[in-house]
Amino acid sequence: MPSDVFLAALRTLLAPADILTDPDDLAPYCLDQRRRYRGQALALARPRSTEEVAAVMRLCDAHGIPVVPQGGNTSNCGAATPDESGRSLILSLERMNRVLGVDTANNTVTVEAGAILADVQKACRAANRLFPADWGAAGSCRIGGALAVNAGGLNVLRYGNMRELTLGLEVVLPSGEIWNGLRALRKDNTGYDLKQLFIGSEGTLGIITRAVLRLFPLPTARAAAMAVVPGPAAALTLLRGLQTEVGDRVTSFELIGRPCFDLVAKHFLALAQPFSPTPEWAVLIELADYGENGPLSDRLLELLAEAGVEDAVLARNESEIDMLWCLREEIPEAQRREGVSIKHDISVPVSSLPQFLEVCGPRISAVFADAQVVAFGHLGDGNLHYNVFRSDKSAQAYSDEAAINAIVYDCVAEFGGSFSAEHGIGQLKTAILAHYRGGAELTLMRGIKQVFDPKGRMNPGKLFA
Ligand SMILES: Cc1cc2nc3c(=O)[nH]c(=O)nc-3n(C[C@H](O)[C@H](O)[C@H](O)COP(=O)(O)OP(=O)(O)OC[C@H]3O[C@@H](n4cnc5c(N)ncnc54)[C@H](O)[C@@H]3O)c2cc1C
Repeated sequence: MPSDVFLAALRTLLAPADILTDPDDLAPYCLDQRRRYRGQALALARPRSTEEVAAVMRLCDAHGIPVVPQGGNTSNCGAATPDESGRSLILSLERMNRVLGVDTANNTVTVEAGAILADVQKACRAANRLFPADWGAAGSCRIGGALAVNAGGLNVLRYGNMRELTLGLEVVLPSGEIWNGLRALRKDNTGYDLKQLFIGSEGTLGIITRAVLRLFPLPTARAAAMAVVPGPAAALTLLRGLQTEVGDRVTSFELIGRPCFDLVAKHFLALAQPFSPTPEWAVLIELADYGENGPLSDRLLELLAEAGVEDAVLARNESEIDMLWCLREEIPEAQRREGVSIKHDISVPVSSLPQFLEVCGPRISAVFADAQVVAFGHLGDGNLHYNVFRSDKSAQAYSDEAAINAIVYDCVAEFGGSFSAEHGIGQLKTAILAHYRGGAELTLMRGIKQVFDPKGRMNPGKLFA
């Protein structure tokens, strides 16, 4: 069998513990975290160095083996799950998980691609620096995966997404050649910026093995509040008002709709609810600055009062701040426990977001009377998680997915928005990419893929159908 020859050669490159072939061992790596896609793989390799990755990639090239790069397997769109052919090698970066060094003078950190996001944050904090990328999966997602989907999260408003936080990359190409772009430069105009092609490429162009990431001074004060707002337009006015007063000290501004509070209350009984009765809309605001917590909290309270906010919960210490964030971060899990919903990760220009919300919901209800929209997310980035529940919350709910998607994504397109703000395309949205980004844009993307991966072996079935 050709696969036996390949596996025998693989065993000459890596230690036995770094290769998995038993179907039971492979199973968790072949299932996506939403349990929507279940694939099969020939084997899983977990190399320990860039040189080992390169050797494995050369071998795969010689044997025509497709490669599925995998980090923490937290993708929301099946991006790291192999197809059902059983021909692919999963290349996991989990053994390359070191934080290689913090350069406090350059304000950078160099990491291996398998480093877990929370470990990177912690190492930087220990060096009195902030690596600001943060989201609910920080404890399990890995830097390579976050780069490969250009993840965003909770602090994009002030610090930008992974693209904006990256200075350099090292990448192993499908041929096994190593591209060393691991530069720590803030200015480098030397032709095409190749690293930007790998960021957001979802493992379809090569394997990211190391990265240099930007750091910031570590803020010493935090203040957070959850505030009731009359609606999304008022929330946006509040955000702009706060920014006028305290500029980019506003690090997060999250919009939360009533159904989110209801779901968290139902599935997390121990979590205290901030308001009674539950408001239609609220925002979670965080400020960060230098100095003491107390004066920053006082300033936030003052600003909320000046803005005419009638009901707000102000966190008085770190644990109260964490409690407020807990309410926000348990929304995805509460939805998962509730059952199947049709999920959308959309963005529109921030100024259009209130109007989008006004228009889109009624269009869905006009066709699906039992639909309930659960909307929440990063208002300051114009990015909402816009999920639609039906009365049937079993897998049967997926039967209307295409029709619901068409309503939502057509509406997003009308407002000049994106059908994938931060989660990527994976295998979930390949047809949608072709529909809304067809023509020259898709042709150029296919051309780039052809340059880097002419044999089409990198993460087949992702991005392109
Ligand atoms: C609870 C939860 C909350 C989340 N919140 C957010 C959020 O707020 N914002 C946001 O943007 N995302 C969010 N996500 C999704 C987000 O995509 C992931 O958390 C994360 O960025 C992906 O990292 P990962 O290591 O799990 O990648 P994986 O899921 O393993 O892989 C993702 C993609 O990257 C590719 N890949 C992985 N490693 C490499 C590599 N080294 N080289 C090349 N390609 C590679 C894979 O092939 C795949 O295409 C959330 C997910 C969960 C489960």
